Amino acid sequence: MAARILDGRAMAARWRDWVKAQVEAFRARTGQVPGLATVLIGDHPASQTYVRAKQSACAAAGIRTFSHCLPADVDRGTVLELVEALARNPEVHGILVQLPLPPHLDEEEILSAIPLEKDVDGFHPLNIGRLGLKGKDPYFIPCTPLGILAMLQEVGIPITGRRAVILGRSRIVGLPMALLLLRFDATVTICHSRTPDLGSVTRQADLLIAAAGRPGLVRGEMIQPGAVVIDVGINRVVDPQAPQGYRLVGDVVFEEAAAVASAITPVPGGVGPMTVAMLLVNTLKAAQRQVEGFASPWLEPFLSKTSGEADRLQPNAPKA
Ligand code: NAD
Repeated sequence: MAARILDGRAMAARWRDWVKAQVEAFRARTGQVPGLATVLIGDHPASQTYVRAKQSACAAAGIRTFSHCLPADVDRGTVLELVEALARNPEVHGILVQLPLPPHLDEEEILSAIPLEKDVDGFHPLNIGRLGLKGKDPYFIPCTPLGILAMLQEVGIPITGRRAVILGRSRIVGLPMALLLLRFDATVTICHSRTPDLGSVTRQADLLIAAAGRPGLVRGEMIQPGAVVIDVGINRVVDPQAPQGYRLVGDVVFEEAAAVASAITPVPGGVGPMTVAMLLVNTLKAAQRQVEGFASPWLEPFLSKTSGEADRLQPNAPKA
């Protein structure tokens, strides 16, 4: 079997175009521009790359960015003051604090200082909690799980009643992904670094989402024939042939998995671009809510529905 490759770059490009058009309409209606503040602490090279990518995607979509870089040894008071100032700034509709933070800073404390309505990453403890509660909706869904859901929906991969296995339980990917799939009535198993005999669990998956940050973790023989494989991992591996001396790979051994799976996301070019596209969507939504008191009503119906074909992300989702 040759798996269908889910082209995240192409899907994300359509989402970015959609956001751009919505931003133009918003600007025409309100005279304002959606604004995203980014807070980068320290000089972690991957974090710098991610923040730059997010800023340039915002610029291309007409979203204004406010960039704040702080040194790795910044004290907590300075960070909290900055977040609180951004919280008060009416031109800033979304606040993104790039994770991971240096170890001396309390992630919980800093993320909790972001007002819920500006929490476009969806990492505030209350937003995560609401994602898991029946009958409650979060203000925002974290961008990576949301991007994965958008990909599955665009290509019509069913979720309801399917067995989903997620590798990883982080705040950024694994946990919110599990909560989101539960909302769609998947039967969800979360594996982590202490899970023994990973293959015995992954072989039961109709939908396997790998977000462990371990290159080569998922081999072909760990995948049920016909399963859908979403590779979230972004890992640098040494490659003397590559211009920078390294290349990016996922958690899945791509060639082996592609021979067994029915569909698979590549790395790079799979989930990553969709994560950035969903940040734009969340920022647009934040601006609409704060300025107009409502947002394009696609997330709410999307969250409350639970099954099959009716689970289209939004009626006008960009099509191939
Ligand atoms: P993390 O380090 O916070 O969490 C990793 C999780 O994987 C942990 O819960 C850990 O228990 C689990 N894990 C570790 N080894 C495992 C193993 N052998 N088997 C099963 N589970 C194991 O990482 P994160 O922030 O969740 O990111 C995970 C990966 O996804 C990283 O490679 C990261 O770069 C990537 N990522 C990609 C995107 C994207 O947009 N594509 C976004 C965020 C993160």
